[in-house]
Amino acid sequence: MVKRRISVLGATGSIGTSTLDLLDRAGGAERFEVVALTGARNIAGLAQAARRLRAKVAVTADPARLGDLRDALAGSDVRAEAGPEALLDAAAEPADWTMSAIVGAAGLAPTMRAAANGGTLALANKESLVCAGRLLLDECARARTTLLPADSEHSAIFQCLRGERLAEVERVIITASGGPFRDFTRDQMQDVTPEEAMAHPNWDMGAAISIDSASMFNKALELIEAKYLFDLQAHQIEVLVHRQSIVHSMVGFTDGSIMAQMGPPDMRGAIGYALNYPDRPDLPVERVDFAKLATLDFAAPDPDRFPALRLAERVLAAGGLAGTVLNAAKEEAMHGFLARRVGFLSMADLVEGALDALPCEGEPGDLSSVLEMDAAARSHVREQIS
Ligand code: NAD
Ligand code: MG
Repeated sequence: MVKRRISVLGATGSIGTSTLDLLDRAGGAERFEVVALTGARNIAGLAQAARRLRAKVAVTADPARLGDLRDALAGSDVRAEAGPEALLDAAAEPADWTMSAIVGAAGLAPTMRAAANGGTLALANKESLVCAGRLLLDECARARTTLLPADSEHSAIFQCLRGERLAEVERVIITASGGPFRDFTRDQMQDVTPEEAMAHPNWDMGAAISIDSASMFNKALELIEAKYLFDLQAHQIEVLVHRQSIVHSMVGFTDGSIMAQMGPPDMRGAIGYALNYPDRPDLPVERVDFAKLATLDFAAPDPDRFPALRLAERVLAAGGLAGTVLNAAKEEAMHGFLARRVGFLSMADLVEGALDALPCEGEPGDLSSVLEMDAAARSHVREQIS
């Protein structure tokens, strides 16, 4: 049997390790030919996974850690590489299935490179679509790469659309847990700390996406992600707060019918769907017990406490480069929040200021104009913070 060639970009993160867990359980190196695994700071974790899965190459994004990676891989057949160019080369290595799970805009260039490969691109790195949606879709179309969502909401929408016609979609309803501050007043949200923001009630995720969930910037990114993935108009995309995170999202059709996809809050559901598509083998996720749950709650989101949602609407209307600015400004504002120099609610003010200050209407022509706009938004926000 020919083994499926697999690469995991961001293999040491929350999505990365969940992906590796599924690969291990499905037979690991016996079943898959693992091409590239990439990470950044967690060298021990990267090397351990690369040895176990007999990867061809392991790459750390940090050039200063090449020596450590070489040491950690000594005596194995795994090639050690480091730095941004090596990361792009690893993404360009031919693979049948690539998981894009680097966090933030740092994932954009490697994701674009993987999109040029053909095969299947499983996308957890939503920032790629937010920053360069049109470019990424065009690249996938050009290279005949199948783009599959690995974000739980978008996997849900994708699953609801299976066998349906896009032209008969009236609306999509993206659910949001509401994060740890769902029931806080605006006043209470003013003084929350990074530690409080990182403690998500339902999902176990990386630091950045946990904070984004608390501010609902994660949902803002997901609205934009949905627009590109499913070719939707802004007015067709809704957000609904659903505290149990069981309904992962819903699709409403022109006849008033609604399809919902449900499952436990475990990313291995969405990742496994993308890994096995179109099959549905047994996955190691808990089964939902509705009698135990008893209720599923739904509520409208509050744009006063979660201004990120208003900013997303603005970006959906403006298009292309506005998404780049929103994401870059949000990442810089978050660094400020983590350094305790920016208040929790001020993150949205900084993003809004960047959208006001930078000319970002229209779609970008190429990746370098995206990266330029990303840099401009970052320096704008950094100036505001200092
Ligand atoms: P994480 O912080 O746990 O892991 C990030 C990965 O990216 C790690 O492997 C890290 O080594 C690597 N990395 C960090 N900085 C890098 C850089 N500058 N260059 C190259 N690699 C770098 O993040 P995560 O929670 O796994 O999220 C990854 C992506 O998946 C994000 O785009 C996130 O929005 C998306 N996502 C995550 C979840 C979740 O449940 N965690 C759900 C949906 C979508
Ligand atoms: Mg999500």
